[in-house]
Amino acid sequence: LVQFILYLFLLILPLGRIVGTVGAVGEALGGLSRIGEVLDVPEEDEGATRLAFAGARPNPDLALVLENVSFRYDDGPAVLDRLTFAVRRGQRVAVVGPSGAGKSTLLNVLVRLYDPVAGVVKVDGQDVRERTRSQVRAGVGYVEQDAPVLAGTLRDNLTLAVPATDAECRTALADVNLLDVLDRSPDGLDAQVGEGGVMLSGGERQRLALARALLARPTTLLLDESTSHLDGLNEARVRDLIDSQSAGCTLVVVAHRLSTVVDSDVILVMDRGRLVAQGTHEELLRTSRLYRELARTQLVR
Ligand code: ATP
Repeated sequence: LVQFILYLFLLILPLGRIVGTVGAVGEALGGLSRIGEVLDVPEEDEGATRLAFAGARPNPDLALVLENVSFRYDDGPAVLDRLTFAVRRGQRVAVVGPSGAGKSTLLNVLVRLYDPVAGVVKVDGQDVRERTRSQVRAGVGYVEQDAPVLAGTLRDNLTLAVPATDAECRTALADVNLLDVLDRSPDGLDAQVGEGGVMLSGGERQRLALARALLARPTTLLLDESTSHLDGLNEARVRDLIDSQSAGCTLVVVAHRLSTVVDSDVILVMDRGRLVAQGTHEELLRTSRLYRELARTQLVR
């Protein structure tokens, strides 16, 4: 029976192009590990929970800590190179850097999509290797640049991570400026979004993923802002939304817009896998040539 359900699932889930395995698809969708649990697909990192916790007591004031974190894809060069930084709970952090600097990879490492080849990542004061990916994902919302959307209805997509009432779904859609998607079809929340969300634009898909992430009330939200996808929802609105929904929510945004960056509590400047500067917008304008260059060119739209 389990096999049959698995086959059925694979047939209806057109996400093979995004990730190769059911477990990985669950991970990529953030909070979708329920799928893996239902199908009894073992988490590949289950053994990690057995790692002895040898460090100091968890410090819940620090939402994220990276200690000398390095990462490479297969045998390639270091994509993250000895990154060290800490993010306090409730901080707004922007990550900027030239294309290929490793910004998206950093977010992937924070949610244990990948484990570093060296160093330690702590979420809420605890080494993530002591938790399963689903445990890490329970508190950390992740909205990727090309946020995956399942074939199914709007409601299906909104309630994948946690259950929500129709009223909550509607509010979540309104919050991310997606009510017009709801109005487009007489089916309302039962409207089909098509394979991989083809009936939605890239921006609508990402905002749907943001609504899904916020419904799960994460303590930390990771947002990979693309230059075009969040056009219908500016950063100030995202921030207001997070402020109103979750006091003390920590926000880490891979930023491509100056408007996102200027009000951040701290900006991390990455270049070729390394953290080359950090500070506020004003500080970095004074101290970092790369940041000045980014602010002048890439970040300005
Ligand atoms: P952008 O601003 O263009 O999105 P980025 O700073 O987010 O770039 P990453 O996407 O993290 O950079 O990529 C960092 C480096 O890792 C790049 O050289 C990229 O080619 C490489 N890379 C990213 N994903 C993979 C992968 N799955 N396999 C192999 N190499 C990868």
